[in-house]
Parts: sequence; C-alpha cells; structure tokens
Amino acid sequence: MKEVYLDNNATTMVAPEVLEAMLPYLRSDYGNASSMHGFGGKVGKVIRQAREQTAQALGCSAEEIIFTSCGTESDNTAIFSAVRSQPEKRHVVTTRVEHPAVLNVASHLEIAGYEVTSLKVDEQGRLDLQELEDSLRPDTALVSVMHANNESGVVFPLERIAEIVKSRDILLHTDAVQTVGKLPIDLQTLAVDFLALSAHKVHGPKGVGALFVRRGVPFRPFMLGGHQEKGRRAGTENVAGIVALGKAMEMAEAGIVDENTRVKALRDRLENAIMESIPDVRRNGDPENRLPNTSSLAFKYIEGESILLMLDQYGICASSGSACTSGSLEPSHVLRAMGVPFTYAHGSIRFSLSRYTTDQEIDLVLRELPGIVSRLRAMSPFTGDQAGQACAC
Ligand SMILES: *Cc1c(COP(=O)(O)O)cnc(C)c1O
Repeated sequence: MKEVYLDNNATTMVAPEVLEAMLPYLRSDYGNASSMHGFGGKVGKVIRQAREQTAQALGCSAEEIIFTSCGTESDNTAIFSAVRSQPEKRHVVTTRVEHPAVLNVASHLEIAGYEVTSLKVDEQGRLDLQELEDSLRPDTALVSVMHANNESGVVFPLERIAEIVKSRDILLHTDAVQTVGKLPIDLQTLAVDFLALSAHKVHGPKGVGALFVRRGVPFRPFMLGGHQEKGRRAGTENVAGIVALGKAMEMAEAGIVDENTRVKALRDRLENAIMESIPDVRRNGDPENRLPNTSSLAFKYIEGESILLMLDQYGICASSGSACTSGSLEPSHVLRAMGVPFTYAHGSIRFSLSRYTTDQEIDLVLRELPGIVSRLRAMSPFTGDQAGQACAC
C-alpha cells in the first residue's frame, strides 16, 4: 500500500531532483570548502551557487543568506542576535501561536529577565494590528511574528506588520518556514530584518536551513567557532545539505503557481467535500488569508488522534492539532489561542498537501473519512451534550 502523505507541514518528501543534486557531495566530492586545495575549492563553488539560488528565490542578495542546521537554529539565531546586539533593550514582542522554535526562546528570555509581550489572535487566528502597534516601546529590541502558521495555515499580513514595526525602527524577524514555496516572498519589498526557513519543509532534506539577515542589521553569531559563513555561523558546512537547499529553493520558487492553483484546488475540493458530507465539522482559521495547501478541520465530539489512527489503516497520513499524546489534556497552543471550543478542539486534524498530492489521493480520503467519523461518533462518550467534560485521551 502506498502512503497518501497529507502531512507536508510536518515534513516533505525530498524531491528526486534535489536528491540527485546532493548525492555527489556525499559520494565523491567530500572536500572541505575551507581547504586550500582544488578539491575543497570545488565545494566552495557549489556553496556559492546554492547561496545564489536561495537569494534569488527570496529577492535578496547572496551575502544576506546564512546557512544553518534547521529552521529552529535560524529562529534562535535571529532572536538571540537581536537581543544581544541591543543590550539596553529588554522588551520583545511575539505572538501566542508561534512555533516552539520561537515560543520557547521567548520563554527563555522571560526567565532571563526580559519582558515579553505575546500578541493574541482572534477566533479566526488573526492578529490585532492595533494591539501590535500599542505593544511597541522605546526599549523593544525585536518583534518576531511568523509569516504563516503551521497548524491553522493562517497567513499574517507581514507587509502591514513590517510597516508598523519599521516605522518605529525596531528589528523584525519572521519565521517563514511554512511560506517558502507556498507564497511569493520578495525581500526587496518585504521590510523584515531576519527571515528563517528550513529545507525539509520545501522538499529538501532534514538538517539544513537558512537565515536571511538584511545588510546593515547588526548581527551576533549564535554558533561560535571557525570562520565559516563569514564568521556568522561556525561549523564545517553541510555541503550536500546546502546544495540540496539551493536546488529545493529554486524548485520552490518555480512551483508557487502550481501551489496556488492545482494544489489549492485539491485542498478546496477535499475541504468542501468533507464539510458537505460530514455534519458538525468546522474549519479552523481565517478562510481568506491562509496557506494554499493547508486545511485544519475540527470534528465535533471525537478525538483527532482516533481519526488519525483510523486514517493510518488506509495509509493516509495527516496530523492532529492536539497534544494529548504528550499526556496533557490540552489541545494545541494554537487552537487554544484561537478559542476553538472544547468539543471541537480535541477533534481537530490537519491535512497539508504538496506538489506531489494527486486527485486519486484526495478521492481515497473522501471515500474513507465519512465512515471513520461516523464509526467514532457512534462510540463517542461526548455525542450526547456533554461538552465540558474531561477528555479521555
Ligand atoms: C517546522 C517548523 C520550524 C522548525 O524547523 P526545523 O527545520 O524542523 O527546525 C519552525 N517554524 C515553523 C513554522 C515550522 O513549521
């Protein structure tokens, strides 16, 4: 049985072209870019090319790209750089729905004595830009706002946010791990200072990412050691990974039209058919401003985990928006921040499509899901009107 992989916001398949591009640097061209001999110099050349490809896809210049080990490292690097380069500023603004790669850095800063403002979202997962504006202070070191949310798919109005934040001369970081390849990004017009991305979310391999740092923005490295990446990120370069990221970025940029037409149409067909054929289903998040590949749906009365387990029996991979498996009774921080009601939040699942998703795969989900939901509801202790009772997961 072939997997029907609808969990692309968690990670993606390595594109065959990307794998081909990286293999020589695992097989035979294993030189160190820092070496004085030609064998290493060859590797330096392909790293330069990958930097150009990445910059090209984002509309920035190659010197503004630093290769890292992942999206998490890119987020950490940006945030720590911003606070360390402005030691007199002790306030940071972020949102309640960030990825843990930002959320947990913010908590760490709070423990270290920083003041952190975590912006709310409304029931559609949207920010209140007035609240953002009101939160800015003379001692604000950084605003860190994700471009699009990995769970709900909601896209934040980053251009507007940048106008507000940059008019006050405050540094702005965005976690764009979920938007690369799904929405166009042009750093010539988008006035962020830092932007984080990750290869494995755009059909590249795991363990490589990049951070854009705008020219002229003060920078403090996160990793200290050798002089790689012009002293901005020490550690021998992950050559194969970097080559792969370059190729993946090139393909991501070329695939944006497909993502916003074919993939989006598949997502809409999946979502509309589910909402028409199954009662008591809600969509989580702003239907207008969201990623073209993501559908977060809440099935009243049942648990997301149970749906996932049953989908898995048909080889269908999706993900749930709840953290029940970690022993907590709470749904995910994103759904909680959105105020999704209890009987829905626990029954939330996320389908995230990709350029490799086919019509037949969507058909399979639409054939099996209604039966799965009605079987689970028949067994559900919540199907009466018992909202508010403890989750049994
Ligand atoms: C996956 C993800 C990350 C983390 O990227 P890694 O490369 O896995 O460290 C950060 N932010 C968002 C929004 C993500 O979806």
